[in-house]
Amino acid sequence: MVDDFTTFKENVKSRVDIVEVIGEFVELKKRGVNYIGPCPFHNETKPSFNVNRERQFYHCFGCNKGGDVFSFLMDITGMSFMEALKQLADRAGLKVPETRFTGREGAEKADAVIAANTAAAEYYHHTLYEAAGEPGMTYLLGRGLSKETIRVFRLGYAPPELSGLLAFARGKSVGEEALDAAGIIKKSSYSGAPFNRFGGRVIFPIIDQTARIIGFGARILEGEGAKYVNSAESPVYHKSTVLFGIYQARAEIKRTRTAVVVEGYMDVISLHQAGIKNVIAASGTAFTVEQGRQINRLSRNVTLLFDGDSAGMTAAARGADNLLATDLAIGVVVLPGGHDPDSYVREQGAEVLGELLKNPMDIWEFKLKALGGNITETEDRIKLSGEIADSISLIADEIKRDVYIRDLSHKLGIDINAMDKAVRGRIRRRRTPRAEGGGERGETCPPGECELLASIVQYPVLARNFMEEAGAKAFTHPVMKKIAEVVFHRIVEGLDISPSSLMNVISDRTAQELIAAAGMFQLDEEAAGRLIDGGLRQHVVRELSDEIADISRKIMQESDMEKKSALVKKQRDTFERLQKYTKG
Ligand SMILES: [Zn+2]
Repeated sequence: MVDDFTTFKENVKSRVDIVEVIGEFVELKKRGVNYIGPCPFHNETKPSFNVNRERQFYHCFGCNKGGDVFSFLMDITGMSFMEALKQLADRAGLKVPETRFTGREGAEKADAVIAANTAAAEYYHHTLYEAAGEPGMTYLLGRGLSKETIRVFRLGYAPPELSGLLAFARGKSVGEEALDAAGIIKKSSYSGAPFNRFGGRVIFPIIDQTARIIGFGARILEGEGAKYVNSAESPVYHKSTVLFGIYQARAEIKRTRTAVVVEGYMDVISLHQAGIKNVIAASGTAFTVEQGRQINRLSRNVTLLFDGDSAGMTAAARGADNLLATDLAIGVVVLPGGHDPDSYVREQGAEVLGELLKNPMDIWEFKLKALGGNITETEDRIKLSGEIADSISLIADEIKRDVYIRDLSHKLGIDINAMDKAVRGRIRRRRTPRAEGGGERGETCPPGECELLASIVQYPVLARNFMEEAGAKAFTHPVMKKIAEVVFHRIVEGLDISPSSLMNVISDRTAQELIAAAGMFQLDEEAAGRLIDGGLRQHVVRELSDEIADISRKIMQESDMEKKSALVKKQRDTFERLQKYTKG
């Protein structure tokens, strides 16, 4: 069971701090032996997400999600196991050994894309400081960016000719296929010649929370073509989940408990340079639920900062709808006419903008204003009520929904019951399993079984009798049985049975969730002894009861009187044994 790979996993785990890794996504506070925070896997108001540093696992009492640092990274970023392992190994300063596991295809492709992006980003950035990159540097400095800002955002320039990039990438062992898979070049379908997708453009690398370069935004400087080109969808770049600037902004978002969301890449960079650093941008005006959740993992508040032109306001009001499905408190700041965040901060300074950001308008107030039209007209009022009902129906929390139904129907001057009915109708029509609570739930432990497992794992000396007389059979949940088998086997072999090492050898996610749930029990020796004895007794009682029922069946079927009376005696004996257990 223990191979080199398992040892390596264990090695990596012991060198990274799970609290530190999870703390990059969740705000954790120390409480007793655990660190506790709002669960990133389901919406909640009272934190029930626990991380145990010493035993290296996490568990949520709300949704039962649990596991080790690998499963956390996989769940939260959508990485494959190999990616998570590589990421954490890098952090620990270790190199993943070449084994049969590393050949998994999906992981390999994602790795290749990341390698291609990383090489290209480095090349584009270097080029800025060379003659070939002059148009890019001129543009960025012209937009008022400092060299420091250019460095922090790793901005770059892609020259029109491709040979430099291809040579640089080859030097990093990145071939044309990988550049093609990453969408950096495109191979012509008939000549096979590579086409430079970003040629002649200023490059904005898109870096995720774990510091991976997942894609690029590229802005044209002159000539024809779209103003911005983004990376194509790839195994690591999904437009619907991208938040530009999240890597540079995450610490400040956590510190200020607020994320400011703007529309453009340049807005993010310009505000960052001015000293407002909790700023990110979604690509396009409409948010996805996934983007909302990502923000929610870092902070409770989000402030949407919109340009002053009224044409975009209606779109902006609708674009925020998916954020309502999260637990975020949403505020809106609209800049005075004609300004975007970049131009505003340059003209007015960070202090003035900071003041505006301190007093955001409530999202509903903004919606009524932006979508409002002339509210006195009946037609408009009906249309607006429908739009508002659409938005309210997206709120996951029922109480919150109710509050808004009351408040907004009052503001719109329509009947509460009518609004309530409209909202409920929309929820029914759209009902999906994701709509409530958010995310899937982890496995629930059958009553008593997680405590029992915890007692055995923490005090194996007390479990000797239990192991001999009951064993894994004492557990009813099939996966608990499997875990118990591994535990007993490891006790006999004298191997480590901490939650973390159990998770190393049983990689099944359900098992990990149950191990983490059991790991949350802190028991003293006396309590553990009681639980183990209780578990054993319960098991024996169950077995003896089954046996008695079985004998009864046989007595009924037996016609031979002698055999029958022997069975009756056996039943009596069994019953006496059972009584001893039920009394004591
Ligand atoms: Zn949870």
